[in-house]
Amino acid sequence: MRYSALALLRHALSGNRHWPRAWRDPAPKRRYDVVIVGGGGHGLATAYYLASLHGLRNVAVLEKGYLGSGNVGRNTTIIRANYLLPGNEPFYAHSLRLWEGLEQALNYNAMVSQRGVINLFHTDGQRDAFARRGNAMRLAGEDAELLDRDALRRLVPFLDFDNARFPILGGLMQPRGGTVRHDAVAWGYARAADALGVDVIQHCEVTGVRIEDGTVKGVDTTRGPIDCGKLGLATAGHSSRTAAMAGLRLPIESHVLQAFVSEGLKPFIDQVVTFGAGHFYLSQSDKGGLVFGGDIDGYNSYAQRGNLATVEHVMESGVAMLPALARVRVLRSWGGIMDMSMDGSPIIDRTPIRHLYLNCGWNYGGFKATPASGWCFAHTIANDAPHELNAAFRLDRFATGDLIDEGGRGAQPNLH
Ligand SMILES: Cc1cc2nc3c(=O)[nH]c(=O)nc-3n(C[C@H](O)[C@H](O)[C@H](O)COP(=O)(O)OP(=O)(O)OC[C@H]3O[C@@H](n4cnc5c(N)ncnc54)[C@H](O)[C@@H]3O)c2cc1C
Repeated sequence: MRYSALALLRHALSGNRHWPRAWRDPAPKRRYDVVIVGGGGHGLATAYYLASLHGLRNVAVLEKGYLGSGNVGRNTTIIRANYLLPGNEPFYAHSLRLWEGLEQALNYNAMVSQRGVINLFHTDGQRDAFARRGNAMRLAGEDAELLDRDALRRLVPFLDFDNARFPILGGLMQPRGGTVRHDAVAWGYARAADALGVDVIQHCEVTGVRIEDGTVKGVDTTRGPIDCGKLGLATAGHSSRTAAMAGLRLPIESHVLQAFVSEGLKPFIDQVVTFGAGHFYLSQSDKGGLVFGGDIDGYNSYAQRGNLATVEHVMESGVAMLPALARVRVLRSWGGIMDMSMDGSPIIDRTPIRHLYLNCGWNYGGFKATPASGWCFAHTIANDAPHELNAAFRLDRFATGDLIDEGGRGAQPNLH
């Protein structure tokens, strides 16, 4: 069924007793043309674009938990396309354009809110670097505005402009950046893919990858073996483990990243704001809670919770940027497992194994990439060749040295 105002009214009048399931709960079939491992945002988006753009409908998404249990339902919901490097910016620009039409395409309210993303700068050198980035964004057709101190103060008056250590000189703003309700993205893609015939199978963990003569033949799962023509891995923080099932060792480390939500407050911060003198970012949800986060915990882990030292560090950074935060109570926090690549950029590519495809290396920033990642991964799988938008996200760049080091920080996951 289509969701609409009329449907809402009709169901309200009948006591909301007749809403159909958003997606089916199918048993796994013996064989699919394409199997995608991982029912996060990227896996579900890939399945949706395989079906809607490439006509591939005998497709399954296998998810070991429930939809939204991974990072897609754990992130701080920020979307933006404010990159510098040519390998990155066109890809994220495409993603932002897909976000802009997503709710209509999926017929699902994902609460896409283009409220603006502002990156603060605190030194002259940082202002120059941000001006350069803003110019690169504009050259790529994106929107960017360099705000001076007064213009910034009019938008976000509560910041600590005169902080003795980190005085705020201005900010680089992307007005079309913003937030999207994270788990609605998983649900929207799942529902739309299901409507096109894709089997979205929850509680089905892949435990092995079957390969014969260098070609993928299928997977073993907790719900039995499944054959497939092509196999896509989109398992984010678990990528090293699923790739190891196919004998691949990835240039990826898994790290915990925490997120925090405060008690509900009256509207007081309209944009997404990121601190330039430490790793801290903040927005306010439609329910009033402040949503924020900071650095990864800094050690390898598969636990979906973090440690107190990082909590303290995030809070300190937040209070340095916005002193009023010191009076706010934190209600909830959690962790997600990040697939940190060695240059901070993702991988969407074929692998040395025929018909095995890889989507990983999303670091802190894979949520905003969800639509373009699914779009490009579907293209790569359907055509057995990358699209020009993901041509730079090659797996072999770590061997050839053709890295996409957006931050210019080298192979240090904690600095990306
Ligand atoms: C706290 C936090 C804040 C973040 N904030 C932002 C942000 O503001 N903006 C942004 O752009 N990005 C952000 N990110 C990053 C972003 O959430 C991730 O990069 C992105 O969600 C990863 O892609 P995904 O949605 O497909 O991952 P996931 O949702 O993690 O999907 C992977 C799925 O694979 C499944 N899986 C793993 N192994 C198997 C197996 N063997 N068999 C079957 N299924 C398997 C997992 O259960 C999981 O559901 C944040 C992440 C965290 C943790």
